[in-house]
Amino acid sequence: MMARSLWDILSSGLDEQSTLSTKSPTSLGRVSEEFLPKHLLAFEFDPNRKLAHFVIEMRNMPGALEHSAAVAGKGGLNILSGFHHAPSQSRNAYWSFFADFTNAKTEPAEFADQLRSLASTLKVRFRTASSGLLVNSFHFPMIWAGKRAIAVRADVLTSIFSHVRSLLGAGPASDVLLFQMGQATGRKSFEQVCALVPRDLLGREPEIAGGLVAAAGWGILTVSHLDVSKKTVTIQLAENFECLSYPKGDKASSQFMRGFVAGAISEFFQQRLECVETKCLAKGDEYCEFTVEPVIPSQDATVAGM
Ligand SMILES: [Zn+2]
Repeated sequence: MMARSLWDILSSGLDEQSTLSTKSPTSLGRVSEEFLPKHLLAFEFDPNRKLAHFVIEMRNMPGALEHSAAVAGKGGLNILSGFHHAPSQSRNAYWSFFADFTNAKTEPAEFADQLRSLASTLKVRFRTASSGLLVNSFHFPMIWAGKRAIAVRADVLTSIFSHVRSLLGAGPASDVLLFQMGQATGRKSFEQVCALVPRDLLGREPEIAGGLVAAAGWGILTVSHLDVSKKTVTIQLAENFECLSYPKGDKASSQFMRGFVAGAISEFFQQRLECVETKCLAKGDEYCEFTVEPVIPSQDATVAGM
């Protein structure tokens, strides 16, 4: 039996709408060529393998990771998925990984003792799989850009949007609510980014914003036009999780991400700006495109782009 993550097992039971959000042919070809997915360490399930989860706390110094890996190599265990956390200004680091001991020359407890004997090691923790199921339960909270984060599947979030539409009806009421939720999220996200990255740097190097959006998994954002003096911006958002979830139609469908873009860029320019979705995955376009410009007083920005 091939190793399967619990995610794979759970995903096999998703409904058609959920499958749409992950298997749309829109631009996945380009994405698979340019990007590798980022897998959060969560579950591994394989009743035929001898699996264990190790967390090695170590000194943040050259060679520490290499020494630990050398012990693993000598023991013949196979390192599976994991992550290494070693902030540049921290004296300590940790390496967290799942390992397969099925054909190893050592047992997990012995491997742990060998790691503890290294000068670079501070502490070793490990847990073995129960009935083939290995769950990452060593780490809490999840941190993203210095703040506590939670992992929510894109199809779960879009099902909440769908529920809002079913409660309020598909029309201006639900569109305005989703737009304003996105707008508040965009404002807050921009504030948090500015706590980490100088605001003027974001203006000079707009690809930073695109990188952060991709790092958060929301989509692949490109700033194709930016005129700081006129306060006009054009943004292309490929793989927009929101619009991939909608059935194909003849109108631009993003409300939450349109609000997110409006909120973030309004915060950047310190002025309320209008955001219109000019292309949309839900219309069959290759990506969603948003144009942002100063609000004309007679227009109502919350319903623009519908
Ligand atoms: Zn769209």
